[in-house]
Amino acid sequence: MPTFSAGFTGRNNRGDNRADLPPGQYETHDCPVLSAGPTQHVPLTYLDGNAAAGPLSELFDFDITMAVGRCVGCGSSMLMARCRMYVGPGLVLRCASCDHVLIRLVVVGDSSWLDMTGLACLHIDRSTT
Ligand SMILES: [Zn+2]
Repeated sequence: MPTFSAGFTGRNNRGDNRADLPPGQYETHDCPVLSAGPTQHVPLTYLDGNAAAGPLSELFDFDITMAVGRCVGCGSSMLMARCRMYVGPGLVLRCASCDHVLIRLVVVGDSSWLDMTGLACLHIDRSTT
């Protein structure tokens, strides 16, 4: 008995077998796609900006979540604690109004890369931070 995977059914019976194609494959004349529909939406979960206080406290001597940032994308000003924080290989803070990326932080060993180009400005009130 030959050893094939459970899904292998051999050559098809559609009459379009070509000798130069491996068993189980056949020539198609329509658009070759790997999925039957649109790419599925994967909802990303996020935390509020307060969760960024810890990682960012290693770079700033004040609580940046209590500072007010202005989004480059929509012009909204908001307390950084109200942003949406996403965590992956790094940390990303996004605008709660338009989802524009405000801050990106990647830490590798003793090195940190901080991108704040999504902020038009950051208002730091030393009496609250
Ligand atoms: Zn925005």
